Amino acid sequence: MSKMIYLDHAATTRTMPEAAKAMEPYLDIYYGNPSTIYEFGEKSRKAIERAREVIAGTLHARPEEIFFTSGGTESDNWALKEAVQLYERTHPGRKAHILTTPIEHHAILNSCEELLQMGCGVSYLKVDESGRVILREAEQEILEHEDACLLSVMYANNEIGTIEPIDEIGRLAKKRQLIFHTDAVQAYGHIPIHVQRDHIDMLSASAHKFGGPKGVGFLYIRSEINLPAFVHGGAQESNRRAGTENVPGIVGMGVAAELSHKRMRMENRKIKYLRDYLAHRILQEIPDVVLTGNAKFRLSNNASFCFRGITGEAAAILMDTQGICVSSGSACSTGSLEDSHVLTAVGMESEWAQGAVRITLGAENTKEEMDYVAEKLKMVVADMRGAGRSL
Ligand code: PLP
Repeated sequence: MSKMIYLDHAATTRTMPEAAKAMEPYLDIYYGNPSTIYEFGEKSRKAIERAREVIAGTLHARPEEIFFTSGGTESDNWALKEAVQLYERTHPGRKAHILTTPIEHHAILNSCEELLQMGCGVSYLKVDESGRVILREAEQEILEHEDACLLSVMYANNEIGTIEPIDEIGRLAKKRQLIFHTDAVQAYGHIPIHVQRDHIDMLSASAHKFGGPKGVGFLYIRSEINLPAFVHGGAQESNRRAGTENVPGIVGMGVAAELSHKRMRMENRKIKYLRDYLAHRILQEIPDVVLTGNAKFRLSNNASFCFRGITGEAAAILMDTQGICVSSGSACSTGSLEDSHVLTAVGMESEWAQGAVRITLGAENTKEEMDYVAEKLKMVVADMRGAGRSL
């Protein structure tokens, strides 16, 4: 197969052609600054507001509750750091406490680490061996922290694809009057989200994970939450996020948001079929392998495995020589051979965790590609285990 086979959609997705096309005029024709008063600038402003309305509609939110950012990392930093600011401003002399999970993305974990250095408290809720938050223990943990101001639990995990019981976690947060934030970077555009039903107060999303361009995302902030600004400067985004807006990026994200929601059901059905077919072949035909994550509560596109006795990093490099892009864990943390923090948190032994390979599908993948990938992976693993077969 001469064509590259792309199976790393959790790292990033191709920008949808419709999104790229919609962006073009905002680069070279309507390049006006949306903050200006003349009509030329108004064209950009109107395009931003259209995208805001579309995105709000997909979440059952209001347009004024959507704030554009540079992506998931910024949205996560904003939500956490400013929720702490809000608490400390309204509770003088008291230090805030955050409740989160040990399987979050580093945008959350490293923000927590920073807040810890500044004197905040952080607790990590227990997850089961599939990565789901254990609700009974979470409730207990919440009760033990009267000073808790924020609960932040990701909607779906970027490494193992586990979907969290967000509605029930939201209910717990509401009962204890905690602000509830969810990092929905892997979920938004792939599964339906309802911020009212799930009691979500803040939600992070990133365009490049659902067919939009890179470097743009948003933070949903429920209107009752008076979250302070994180980036200071001009009056953009209702004085909450300063800086001239990424107009083409926002336009592209709006189109991708609309189309990903329209196509979600059909695409998920196709992707899930291919994912299950590939996973079945791998589990049947390769010895000493486990599928990580949850069988039922799982993103349709995620097939993540641990192969005993190999390193995922080397496997991903060998797969690359065969024209196949897969990941050895989270794309954002490659370059280190430490066990993935997610696999450690779900209790995976190092002997297995070292052999983590993440395969994440997209709507453009085919069954023929799945067969090719299964064959190549079989050979790569056998080669690495010294079975002597050659690629
Ligand atoms: N949160 C999760 C769950 C992610 O998977 C990622 C990226 O992989 C991010 C946050 C960061 O998003 P961005 O790449 O837009 O900064």
